[in-house]
Amino acid sequence: MSLSIPFDNSYARLPSSLFSEQAPTPVRAPKLIAFNAALAADLGIAGAEDADHLAQVFSGSILPDGAQPLAQLYAAHQFGHWNPNLGDGRAILIGESNGYDIQLKGSGRTPYSRQGDGRAWLGPVLREYVISEFMFAAGIPTTRALAAVQTGEDVYRDKPLPGAVLTRTASSHIRVGTFQALAARQDIQGLQALLQYAIERHYPMAANPLEFLQEVIAAQANLIARWMSIGFIHGVMNTDNCAISGETIDYGPCAFMDNYHPMTVFSSIDRQGRYAFGNQPDIIVWNMAQLATALLPLMPDTQAAVAEFTDAVHAMPALVQTRWLHHFRPKIGLRSEQSEDAELIKNLLDHMTQSNSDFTNTFRELPNEVTETSSMDSHLFGDWIKAWKTRLSYEKDDPIAVMNSANPAVIPRNHQIEAMIAAAVDNNYAPFHDLMRVLSAPHSPLAPQDIGYSYPPKEKERVLQTFCGT
Ligand code: AMP
Ligand code: MG
Repeated sequence: MSLSIPFDNSYARLPSSLFSEQAPTPVRAPKLIAFNAALAADLGIAGAEDADHLAQVFSGSILPDGAQPLAQLYAAHQFGHWNPNLGDGRAILIGESNGYDIQLKGSGRTPYSRQGDGRAWLGPVLREYVISEFMFAAGIPTTRALAAVQTGEDVYRDKPLPGAVLTRTASSHIRVGTFQALAARQDIQGLQALLQYAIERHYPMAANPLEFLQEVIAAQANLIARWMSIGFIHGVMNTDNCAISGETIDYGPCAFMDNYHPMTVFSSIDRQGRYAFGNQPDIIVWNMAQLATALLPLMPDTQAAVAEFTDAVHAMPALVQTRWLHHFRPKIGLRSEQSEDAELIKNLLDHMTQSNSDFTNTFRELPNEVTETSSMDSHLFGDWIKAWKTRLSYEKDDPIAVMNSANPAVIPRNHQIEAMIAAAVDNNYAPFHDLMRVLSAPHSPLAPQDIGYSYPPKEKERVLQTFCGT
């Protein structure tokens, strides 16, 4: 039986100004690295048995029946600077299955490639595969990884590197920048069609542009709060990397923090720290203001719309704070809500900054403070622990169970990701498969032989910078 995908390609039915038809460019010697069979089953994909055939399809060398490959148009504010001419420069949507986009990333040039080669190298492909699947396992809204294939071709960055293609799935790839591109072109018909499509696909309860904006704001407020709760730094929160669906998209220079500091930045290109960990709740509000602006051309009464949209955007910081508390309370064992909780959590984070504490492990080890003698620095944490234990005495549920289901035992740490990539470049995929296995159930206690995955980097292992996937 050969591969069958039940395509229904709704994006291809939208006005042609929204995309360019574009087939992937075949590659020389595709070889399957990984295939996500569980995700494939969710997408209704059948007959995915032959690794060579999967490699052909998910490298873009053979198009499966029913595919309608296209590259999507978008624009963006990149680091605050307006760029009207972007689009899928190295990605091609081959179609949708069970409502999910199937997109090949690194599959060759498109009309939006500009100077780029349309390709990706193995490192960022494996990075995205591991981190996006970890996010899914941790319950954080995200695009997912269906397949990774080596192309058998080199790509040239500052040196030749092994090429690869990632197949990404998403509840859609509509970005803030998709709306911006059409608004900037004064393509009102296209903009209207996109809005109606985005509403039907993501927020069918939204009756008008304002309600759509409010739904996106709510979804993004929740997403950013989830990132903050797990120590995730996206790294390039440009408006093209901000999905209408509220899923995490574009795992370029993203990273998880080891030791906690709110101003942590890893991305080599983020020289001003615009997208530092602690700036994410502000930047998302700025991005939503750009979405609001892009929706304005659809409003008959601009002045009234500006007032309504401004109110919606101004309501966002409070929403982020509500979702932040919602996701942080269980991290310190709280189910009930009291007014001093935000301050209690912030005080813990301040102590962590002062003591250079590991973000993930500090939270994961909090239950020890309840059951055993303290392992935390009593000089820094002593008073906090006293206040916290008083607060815990008001809780009905077992705080240890609450904490253990909120705090992962393991995250994809930068040094482990880099070591995994270095091994893969040497054709050793064991670290990739080991990481995938350990990260698949992040809240479960680690098996004794896997404890090393929870260790912060040693000084010489520390990764100081991460790079875009280009
Ligand atoms: P990103 O930093 O991944 O959000 O990408 C920003 C823009 O650059 C997007 O429009 C990409 O499609 C484009 N781009 C990134 N890498 C390449 C490449 N190797 N070839 C062509 N276009 C690229
Ligand atoms: Mg992008």
